[in-house]
Amino acid sequence: MSRVYNFSAGPAVLPEEVLREAAEEMMDYKGSGMSVMEMSHRSKVYDTIIKEAEQDIRDLMHIPDHYKVLFLQGGASQQFAMIPMNLMKNKKAGYIITGQWAKKAYQEAQIYGEAVKLASSEDQTFSYIPDCSDLDLPDDLDYVYICENNTIYGTKYKELPNTKGHLLVADVSSCFLSEPVDVSKYGVIFGGVQKNVGPAGVVIAIIREDLISDDVLPGTPTMLKYKTHADADSLYNTPPCYGIYICGKVFKWLKNMGGLEEIKKRNEEKAKILYDFLDQSKMFQGTVAPKDRSLMNVPFVTGDKDLDAKFVAEASKAGFVNLKGHRSVGGMRASIYNAMPKEGVEKLVAFMKEFEEANEPFGDLNG
Ligand SMILES: *Cc1c(COP(=O)(O)O)cnc(C)c1O
Repeated sequence: MSRVYNFSAGPAVLPEEVLREAAEEMMDYKGSGMSVMEMSHRSKVYDTIIKEAEQDIRDLMHIPDHYKVLFLQGGASQQFAMIPMNLMKNKKAGYIITGQWAKKAYQEAQIYGEAVKLASSEDQTFSYIPDCSDLDLPDDLDYVYICENNTIYGTKYKELPNTKGHLLVADVSSCFLSEPVDVSKYGVIFGGVQKNVGPAGVVIAIIREDLISDDVLPGTPTMLKYKTHADADSLYNTPPCYGIYICGKVFKWLKNMGGLEEIKKRNEEKAKILYDFLDQSKMFQGTVAPKDRSLMNVPFVTGDKDLDAKFVAEASKAGFVNLKGHRSVGGMRASIYNAMPKEGVEKLVAFMKEFEEANEPFGDLNG
């Protein structure tokens, strides 16, 4: 068996300990005589799995009691519709456009009401986070929506927008559990887990209880009402059982290492290694305004498409895979989520140094 360093933006690397434990439990989960994949979601043994998972994420994020934790399906993209269906009482919401995922959510909301573009960084290919300290906010907004970490462009809000009393809704798919958060600042936090928490197929939504009601837009399907899932503790229908079980293991992995304070420290160390290298390199440059840099997704370019392609190909051969940038941006992107070991980043940087030296004659292509 040989494992690569997987820099995929998602689905992405998971902790080896978690994968090993899951493998050990594959045929017989704790004496049940079956895999978690094979058991009833109504069984006692599964009930313990999902309850523990919920308690562990509550502990990790210090989620207040008046917030519900829902394990849902449909990807983060389904939340782009569920948010307005459940929250757009005045049929008006504000969106801050910091990348493609925010834009998709904004476009989806337009199906259900008026989506107001409050700010955007599209003028500079989403390479920065707009100043959101004093936005012009209509009084009747139902909520202000952000994508907190922009997976494709590598930007992250270092400060939340000043919503002037309006509800804040955040897509945290690609920074989920990467650092401590103050849940009480949000109305809804949601994320697809396949970036930083578990296998694709699970979306976690953390919702302030008073926002969960039967007062939803007409025509909202039962399955897309938060209340349906909240009333049934995420067991209204068959949930993504196996995925939730793996998420639960990742929560325990994080708790055992010291929680979100500790993972933040590690994530900062890892990101610094890569950003410090990019800042002094003559060949590779980061593409993001330094103050807005993500700890999770690090895009960079050489300025020469052929050289980018050569780098991606040679890196892949050397065991550093999925470094190609998103098709809309080009260049490279290293996603260095929680489960990417520091050693993986150190080795990547060593490889980049070697590549730079070996390709020095081409350095002037950078202009
Ligand atoms: C990946 C991603 C999505 C889309 O997730 P799906 O689960 O594929 O729908 C949405 N938002 C962000 C920030 C993402 O990184």
